[in-house]
Amino acid sequence: MDYAKNILETIGNTPLVKINTLTKNLPCLVLSKYETFNPGNSTKDRMALKMIEDAEADGRLKPGSTIIEGTSGNTGMGLALAAIVKGYKCVFVISDKQSKEKMDILRAVGAKVIVCPTNVEPTDPRSYYSVSKRLSQETPNSWYVNQYDNPSNAKAHYESTGPEIWRQTNGKITHFVVGVGTGGTISGVGKYLKEQNPNIKVWGVDTYGSVFKKYHETGEFDENEIYPYITEGIGEDILPENVDFSIIDGFTKVTDKDAAIYTQKLAKEEGMFLGNSAGSAIKGVLQLKEHFTKDDVVVVLFHDHGSRYVGKMFNDEWMRERGFIEDENTTAEDLVKN
Ligand code: PMP
Repeated sequence: MDYAKNILETIGNTPLVKINTLTKNLPCLVLSKYETFNPGNSTKDRMALKMIEDAEADGRLKPGSTIIEGTSGNTGMGLALAAIVKGYKCVFVISDKQSKEKMDILRAVGAKVIVCPTNVEPTDPRSYYSVSKRLSQETPNSWYVNQYDNPSNAKAHYESTGPEIWRQTNGKITHFVVGVGTGGTISGVGKYLKEQNPNIKVWGVDTYGSVFKKYHETGEFDENEIYPYITEGIGEDILPENVDFSIIDGFTKVTDKDAAIYTQKLAKEEGMFLGNSAGSAIKGVLQLKEHFTKDDVVVVLFHDHGSRYVGKMFNDEWMRERGFIEDENTTAEDLVKN
Protein backbone atom coordinates (compact mmCIF):
# COMPACT_ATOMS: atom_id res chain seq x y z
CA MET A 1 0.00 0.00 0.00
CA ASP A 2 1.14 3.51 -0.75
CA TYR A 3 -0.04 6.07 1.79
CA ALA A 4 1.18 9.03 3.85
CA LYS A 5 1.37 8.30 7.60
CA ASN A 6 -0.21 11.65 8.35
CA ILE A 7 -1.16 14.85 6.50
CA LEU A 8 2.26 16.43 7.15
CA GLU A 9 3.94 13.84 4.96
CA THR A 10 2.05 15.26 1.96
CA ILE A 11 3.81 18.64 2.24
CA GLY A 12 6.05 19.50 -0.72
CA ASN A 13 6.72 17.88 -4.10
CA THR A 14 4.28 20.26 -5.77
CA PRO A 15 4.00 20.37 -9.58
CA LEU A 16 5.62 22.82 -11.98
CA VAL A 17 2.97 24.05 -14.43
CA LYS A 18 3.51 25.99 -17.67
CA ILE A 19 1.81 29.37 -18.08
CA ASN A 20 0.40 29.56 -21.60
CA THR A 21 -1.91 32.47 -22.40
CA LEU A 22 -0.74 35.28 -20.13
CA THR A 23 2.90 34.93 -21.15
CA LYS A 24 2.35 34.53 -24.89
CA ASN A 25 4.24 37.77 -25.65
CA LEU A 26 7.32 36.71 -23.69
CA PRO A 27 10.18 35.07 -25.61
CA CYS A 28 10.81 32.36 -22.99
CA LEU A 29 9.26 29.40 -21.17
CA VAL A 30 7.46 30.45 -17.95
CA LEU A 31 6.73 27.74 -15.40
CA SER A 32 4.83 28.16 -12.15
CA LYS A 33 5.75 26.36 -8.94
CA TYR A 34 2.21 25.54 -7.92
CA GLU A 35 2.29 25.64 -4.14
CA THR A 36 -1.45 25.39 -3.51
CA PHE A 37 -1.09 21.62 -3.81
CA ASN A 38 0.28 21.62 -0.26
CA PRO A 39 -2.28 20.34 2.29
CA GLY A 40 -2.88 23.80 3.78
CA ASN A 41 -3.11 25.21 0.22
CA SER A 42 0.04 27.32 0.47
CA THR A 43 3.82 27.15 0.38
CA LYS A 44 3.87 28.19 4.01
CA ASP A 45 3.15 24.60 5.11
CA ARG A 46 6.79 23.87 4.37
CA MET A 47 8.28 26.52 6.64
CA ALA A 48 5.63 26.03 9.36
CA LEU A 49 6.58 22.38 9.73
CA LYS A 50 10.31 23.15 9.58
CA MET A 51 10.05 25.88 12.24
CA ILE A 52 8.16 23.46 14.53
CA GLU A 53 10.59 20.59 13.95
CA ASP A 54 13.63 22.78 14.62
CA ALA A 55 12.02 24.21 17.78
CA GLU A 56 11.22 20.69 19.00
CA ALA A 57 14.77 19.56 18.30
CA ASP A 58 16.39 22.23 20.47
CA GLY A 59 13.74 22.26 23.22
CA ARG A 60 12.08 25.63 22.51
CA LEU A 61 8.85 23.72 21.87
CA LYS A 62 7.79 21.25 24.56
CA PRO A 63 4.84 18.82 24.86
CA GLY A 64 1.58 20.70 25.46
CA SER A 65 3.06 24.06 24.38
CA THR A 66 1.02 26.91 22.93
CA ILE A 67 2.31 28.16 19.57
CA ILE A 68 1.93 31.94 19.18
CA GLU A 69 2.44 33.82 15.94
CA GLY A 70 1.57 37.01 14.09
CA THR A 71 0.42 35.56 10.79
CA SER A 72 -1.46 36.75 7.73
CA GLY A 73 -3.13 33.39 7.56
CA ASN A 74 -1.09 30.98 5.47
CA THR A 75 1.66 30.42 8.03
CA GLY A 76 -1.09 30.00 10.60
CA MET A 77 -2.73 27.29 8.50
CA GLY A 78 0.56 25.39 8.21
CA LEU A 79 1.27 25.75 11.92
CA ALA A 80 -2.29 24.69 12.82
CA LEU A 81 -2.10 21.51 10.73
CA ALA A 82 1.24 20.55 12.26
CA ALA A 83 -0.04 21.44 15.75
CA ILE A 84 -3.03 19.12 15.34
CA VAL A 85 -0.87 16.17 14.29
CA LYS A 86 1.73 16.90 16.97
CA GLY A 87 -0.57 17.94 19.84
CA TYR A 88 0.05 21.69 20.36
CA LYS A 89 -2.36 24.63 20.84
CA CYS A 90 -2.25 27.66 18.51
CA VAL A 91 -2.97 31.38 19.05
CA PHE A 92 -2.66 33.62 15.97
CA VAL A 93 -2.59 37.39 15.87
CA ILE A 94 -3.77 38.74 12.51
CA SER A 95 -4.21 42.25 11.07
CA ASP A 96 -7.72 43.43 10.18
CA LYS A 97 -6.87 43.93 6.50
CA GLN A 98 -6.65 40.16 6.02
CA SER A 99 -9.61 38.42 4.43
CA LYS A 100 -12.41 37.10 6.64
CA GLU A 101 -12.03 33.78 4.83
CA LYS A 102 -8.48 33.47 6.16
CA MET A 103 -9.62 34.10 9.74
CA ASP A 104 -12.51 31.64 9.42
CA ILE A 105 -10.21 29.00 7.99
CA LEU A 106 -7.78 29.33 10.91
CA ARG A 107 -10.65 28.99 13.38
CA ALA A 108 -11.90 25.96 11.43
CA VAL A 109 -8.63 24.16 12.17
CA GLY A 110 -8.89 24.86 15.88
CA ALA A 111 -6.76 27.98 16.29
CA LYS A 112 -7.63 30.98 18.44
CA VAL A 113 -7.50 34.14 16.28
CA ILE A 114 -6.94 37.67 17.63
CA VAL A 115 -7.53 40.56 15.19
CA CYS A 116 -5.43 43.79 15.39
CA PRO A 117 -5.59 47.10 13.48
CA THR A 118 -3.43 47.29 10.32
CA ASN A 119 -2.69 50.98 10.10
CA VAL A 120 -0.65 51.47 13.26
CA GLU A 121 3.14 51.61 13.62
CA PRO A 122 4.81 48.23 14.24
CA THR A 123 5.98 49.60 17.63
CA ASP A 124 2.40 50.60 18.62
CA PRO A 125 1.14 48.32 21.43
CA ARG A 126 -1.97 47.53 19.31
CA SER A 127 0.05 46.31 16.30
CA TYR A 128 0.08 42.63 15.57
CA TYR A 129 3.84 42.52 16.08
CA SER A 130 3.46 43.97 19.60
CA VAL A 131 0.40 41.93 20.56
CA SER A 132 1.94 38.62 19.53
CA LYS A 133 5.16 39.40 21.43
CA ARG A 134 3.20 40.39 24.55
CA LEU A 135 1.03 37.25 24.45
CA SER A 136 4.10 35.05 24.18
CA GLN A 137 5.55 36.70 27.29
CA GLU A 138 2.29 36.31 29.24
CA THR A 139 1.36 32.74 28.21
CA PRO A 140 3.10 29.96 30.19
CA ASN A 141 4.81 27.19 28.15
CA SER A 142 4.38 29.15 24.94
CA TRP A 143 6.63 29.52 21.93
CA TYR A 144 6.69 32.65 19.77
CA VAL A 145 7.44 31.50 16.24
CA ASN A 146 8.52 34.86 14.71
CA GLN A 147 8.54 33.83 11.06
CA TYR A 148 10.15 37.16 10.09
CA ASP A 149 13.43 36.46 11.86
CA ASN A 150 13.26 32.67 12.39
CA PRO A 151 16.03 31.13 10.23
CA SER A 152 14.10 27.84 9.86
CA ASN A 153 11.71 29.73 7.54
CA ALA A 154 14.27 30.30 4.77
CA LYS A 155 15.93 26.97 5.59
CA ALA A 156 12.71 25.09 4.73
CA HIS A 157 12.79 26.53 1.23
CA TYR A 158 16.54 25.94 0.93
CA GLU A 159 16.02 22.27 1.80
CA SER A 160 12.81 21.52 -0.13
CA THR A 161 11.41 24.12 -2.56
CA GLY A 162 14.79 25.06 -4.08
CA PRO A 163 15.95 21.46 -4.74
CA GLU A 164 12.52 20.57 -6.18
CA ILE A 165 12.67 23.44 -8.70
CA TRP A 166 16.25 22.56 -9.65
CA ARG A 167 15.30 18.89 -10.19
CA GLN A 168 12.04 19.64 -12.01
CA THR A 169 13.79 21.95 -14.50
CA ASN A 170 16.76 19.57 -14.94
CA GLY A 171 18.94 22.48 -13.86
CA LYS A 172 17.72 24.60 -16.80
CA ILE A 173 16.13 27.36 -14.72
CA THR A 174 17.61 30.80 -15.55
CA HIS A 175 15.35 33.13 -13.51
CA PHE A 176 13.35 32.77 -10.30
CA VAL A 177 10.59 35.33 -9.62
CA VAL A 178 8.60 35.45 -6.38
CA GLY A 179 6.66 37.78 -4.09
CA VAL A 180 8.48 38.79 -0.91
CA GLY A 181 6.93 39.09 2.56
CA THR A 182 9.02 37.56 5.34
CA GLY A 183 11.60 36.77 2.65
CA GLY A 184 11.78 33.09 3.54
CA THR A 185 10.78 31.83 0.10
CA ILE A 186 13.05 34.05 -2.00
CA SER A 187 16.05 33.72 0.32
CA GLY A 188 15.88 29.93 0.76
CA VAL A 189 15.09 29.07 -2.87
CA GLY A 190 17.43 31.78 -4.21
CA LYS A 191 20.38 30.65 -2.09
CA TYR A 192 19.97 27.01 -3.15
CA LEU A 193 19.61 27.85 -6.84
CA LYS A 194 22.60 30.22 -6.89
CA GLU A 195 24.74 27.56 -5.21
CA GLN A 196 23.88 25.23 -8.11
CA ASN A 197 24.38 27.91 -10.78
CA PRO A 198 25.51 31.42 -9.81
CA ASN A 199 24.20 32.78 -13.13
CA ILE A 200 20.57 32.23 -12.12
CA LYS A 201 18.83 35.57 -11.56
CA VAL A 202 16.56 35.99 -8.55
CA TRP A 203 13.86 38.68 -8.71
CA GLY A 204 11.59 39.78 -5.88
CA VAL A 205 8.09 41.10 -6.43
CA ASP A 206 7.24 43.96 -4.08
CA THR A 207 4.16 46.12 -3.65
CA TYR A 208 3.66 49.91 -3.54
CA GLY A 209 3.62 50.84 0.16
CA SER A 210 6.53 48.53 1.03
CA VAL A 211 10.20 49.27 1.74
CA PHE A 212 11.99 46.40 -0.05
CA LYS A 213 12.68 47.76 -3.54
CA LYS A 214 14.03 51.12 -2.41
CA TYR A 215 16.12 49.50 0.35
CA HIS A 216 17.63 47.02 -2.12
CA GLU A 217 18.53 49.79 -4.56
CA THR A 218 19.81 52.44 -2.16
CA GLY A 219 20.50 50.77 1.19
CA GLU A 220 18.19 53.39 2.70
CA PHE A 221 15.20 52.46 4.89
CA ASP A 222 12.85 55.15 3.57
CA GLU A 223 9.74 55.68 5.70
CA ASN A 224 8.14 57.64 2.84
CA GLU A 225 7.82 54.32 1.01
CA ILE A 226 5.43 53.08 3.71
CA TYR A 227 1.69 53.58 3.24
CA PRO A 228 -1.39 51.34 3.40
CA TYR A 229 -1.89 48.90 0.54
CA ILE A 230 -4.35 46.17 -0.33
CA THR A 231 -2.20 43.31 -1.66
CA GLU A 232 -1.92 40.52 0.91
CA GLY A 233 1.13 38.43 1.75
CA ILE A 234 3.86 40.55 0.16
CA GLY A 235 5.62 43.80 1.06
CA GLU A 236 6.61 44.95 4.54
CA ASP A 237 7.14 48.08 6.63
CA ILE A 238 10.06 46.38 8.39
CA LEU A 239 13.21 44.57 7.19
CA PRO A 240 12.79 40.93 8.28
CA GLU A 241 16.02 39.02 8.95
CA ASN A 242 14.79 36.37 6.51
CA VAL A 243 15.22 38.72 3.54
CA ASP A 244 18.74 38.02 2.30
CA PHE A 245 19.23 41.05 0.04
CA SER A 246 22.61 39.73 -1.13
CA ILE A 247 21.06 36.91 -3.19
CA ILE A 248 18.35 39.12 -4.76
CA ASP A 249 19.23 40.67 -8.12
CA GLY A 250 16.36 43.15 -8.16
CA PHE A 251 12.78 43.97 -7.20
CA THR A 252 9.83 45.03 -9.30
CA LYS A 253 6.77 46.67 -7.73
CA VAL A 254 3.22 45.74 -8.76
CA THR A 255 0.18 47.94 -8.04
CA ASP A 256 -2.80 46.72 -5.99
CA LYS A 257 -5.05 47.09 -9.05
CA ASP A 258 -2.77 45.05 -11.31
CA ALA A 259 -2.39 42.37 -8.63
CA ALA A 260 -6.19 42.08 -8.41
CA ILE A 261 -6.70 42.01 -12.19
CA TYR A 262 -3.91 39.50 -12.83
CA THR A 263 -5.25 37.23 -10.09
CA GLN A 264 -8.51 37.23 -12.07
CA LYS A 265 -6.66 36.64 -15.33
CA LEU A 266 -4.88 33.60 -13.91
CA ALA A 267 -8.25 32.10 -12.97
CA LYS A 268 -10.09 32.95 -16.16
CA GLU A 269 -7.33 32.55 -18.76
CA GLU A 270 -5.19 29.76 -17.28
CA GLY A 271 -7.67 27.89 -15.04
CA MET A 272 -5.41 28.73 -12.10
CA PHE A 273 -7.58 29.76 -9.13
CA LEU A 274 -4.99 31.44 -6.92
CA GLY A 275 -4.45 34.11 -4.30
CA ASN A 276 -3.66 37.79 -4.60
CA SER A 277 0.13 37.45 -4.52
CA ALA A 278 0.05 35.08 -7.52
CA GLY A 279 -1.46 37.98 -9.51
CA SER A 280 1.40 40.20 -8.30
CA ALA A 281 3.97 37.53 -9.17
CA ILE A 282 2.78 36.93 -12.75
CA LYS A 283 2.44 40.68 -13.38
CA GLY A 284 5.98 41.02 -12.01
CA VAL A 285 7.17 38.46 -14.58
CA LEU A 286 5.51 40.47 -17.39
CA GLN A 287 7.11 43.70 -16.12
CA LEU A 288 10.53 42.01 -16.32
CA LYS A 289 10.05 41.07 -20.00
CA GLU A 290 13.14 42.93 -21.21
CA HIS A 291 15.36 40.74 -19.00
CA PHE A 292 14.34 37.49 -20.72
CA THR A 293 15.58 35.92 -23.96
CA LYS A 294 14.49 32.95 -26.06
CA ASP A 295 16.23 30.11 -24.24
CA ASP A 296 15.43 31.30 -20.73
CA VAL A 297 13.43 29.19 -18.28
CA VAL A 298 11.63 31.44 -15.82
CA VAL A 299 10.09 29.90 -12.70
CA VAL A 300 7.50 31.97 -10.82
CA LEU A 301 6.22 30.72 -7.47
CA PHE A 302 2.50 30.94 -6.68
CA HIS A 303 1.97 31.00 -2.92
CA ASP A 304 -1.68 30.32 -2.15
CA HIS A 305 -5.21 29.45 -3.29
CA GLY A 306 -8.08 31.57 -4.63
CA SER A 307 -10.68 30.30 -2.15
CA ARG A 308 -9.24 32.66 0.47
CA TYR A 309 -10.08 35.67 -1.76
CA VAL A 310 -13.59 34.95 -3.10
CA GLY A 311 -14.97 38.00 -1.26
CA LYS A 312 -12.17 40.18 -2.61
CA MET A 313 -10.79 40.42 -6.17
CA PHE A 314 -13.20 37.72 -7.34
CA ASN A 315 -16.10 39.96 -6.27
CA ASP A 316 -17.13 42.86 -8.56
CA GLU A 317 -18.50 44.96 -5.68
CA TRP A 318 -15.18 44.76 -3.84
CA MET A 319 -13.34 45.70 -7.05
CA ARG A 320 -15.69 48.69 -7.60
CA GLU A 321 -15.36 49.96 -4.02
CA ARG A 322 -11.60 50.21 -4.50
CA GLY A 323 -11.86 51.89 -7.89
CA PHE A 324 -10.39 48.87 -9.68
CA ILE A 325 -13.55 48.70 -11.79
CA GLU A 326 -14.62 52.20 -12.75
CA ASP A 327 -18.26 52.07 -13.80
CA GLU A 328 -21.46 50.23 -12.92
CA ASN A 329 -21.72 48.31 -16.18
CA THR A 330 -18.20 46.92 -16.26
CA THR A 331 -17.44 43.59 -14.59
CA ALA A 332 -14.10 42.06 -13.69
CA GLU A 333 -14.61 39.75 -16.65
CA ASP A 334 -14.43 42.77 -18.99
CA LEU A 335 -11.10 43.81 -17.48
CA VAL A 336 -9.71 40.36 -17.98
CA LYS A 337 -10.55 40.40 -21.68
CA ASN A 338 -8.50 43.61 -22.23
N1 PMP B 1 2.16 35.37 -0.78
C1 PMP B 1 1.37 34.98 0.23
C2 PMP B 1 -0.07 34.74 -0.06
C3 PMP B 1 1.90 34.81 1.52
O1 PMP B 1 1.09 34.41 2.52
C4 PMP B 1 3.25 35.09 1.74
C5 PMP B 1 3.82 34.99 3.12
N2 PMP B 1 3.80 36.22 3.82
C6 PMP B 1 4.05 35.52 0.66
C7 PMP B 1 3.45 35.63 -0.59
C8 PMP B 1 5.51 35.88 0.81
O2 PMP B 1 6.33 34.78 1.16
P1 PMP B 1 7.55 34.96 2.13
O3 PMP B 1 6.99 35.33 3.48
O4 PMP B 1 8.25 33.64 2.16
O5 PMP B 1 8.42 36.05 1.60
